[in-house]
Amino acid sequence: MRESFVYSTVPFGHLTSPLLSAAGAKHIFTAKDGGVSEGAFASFNFAAGGGEVCDRWENVVENHTMVAHFFGMEADRICRSYQTHSTKVLTVTAAHCGTGLTLPPFEEGVDGLVCAEEGVLLSVRGADCVTVLLYDGGSRVCGACHSGWRGTLGGIAALTVEAMCAAGASRDSIVAAIGPSARSCCYRVGEELYCTFTDADVKNAAFFTHRNGELYLDLQGAVSAALTEAGVKDGHISDGGECSICRPDRYFSHRRQGPVRGTMAAFITL
Ligand SMILES: [Zn+2]
Repeated sequence: MRESFVYSTVPFGHLTSPLLSAAGAKHIFTAKDGGVSEGAFASFNFAAGGGEVCDRWENVVENHTMVAHFFGMEADRICRSYQTHSTKVLTVTAAHCGTGLTLPPFEEGVDGLVCAEEGVLLSVRGADCVTVLLYDGGSRVCGACHSGWRGTLGGIAALTVEAMCAAGASRDSIVAAIGPSARSCCYRVGEELYCTFTDADVKNAAFFTHRNGELYLDLQGAVSAALTEAGVKDGHISDGGECSICRPDRYFSHRRQGPVRGTMAAFITL
């Protein structure tokens, strides 16, 4: 379902999902303002970047530290995904705290994280790719995943639900929120991506629209459908409707800015 996320600039730019907040989930999706990074990364950036110019790692750590403090925690409680557009979801514990930030990253791609312990702050990132936060307040299990088109095609959101259920969550009570990301208003794609999706499942054609001879992909619709298929109730899926491409005032966007740009993050903890 579409619901307006709550945007705040205090103490830094971030959004929350009313659905997740009502369920008691401690979570945020970051926006671009309020951090310490400069230049193309100004200012609330959560990745060094893969372009010709990278952000200083100490700035990235400081931005994470600000978020940790917001949750009343320290940066060494953050467990940070190692995103390779994989469909790997890992259930983590306190032993994984610091991974990817104050400790070395995971050794292989981990695009989804699940946790059933308190005191672990899960973090995934995106700058057009969809970030999804999930929570089951009854059984106290939370999850987060990074779902670009590859992860969406591979069903990582559904795999995150499965990992949560394996950790004790109940599908009936899981709530999920879809963060700021490239939306079908702007996310133009090529014919080959349409073929890749429809070769995998003809029903995926429903997530593409034609406008003025161009194709646009509805990633959020595909993620929502995967969550529904995995047993998450319709009214339990919150899509904030925020497009990273058409809001340069608020979000970083790979499509709009190229590889030298900042990256937003999404955080959740029990
Ligand atoms: Zn847009």
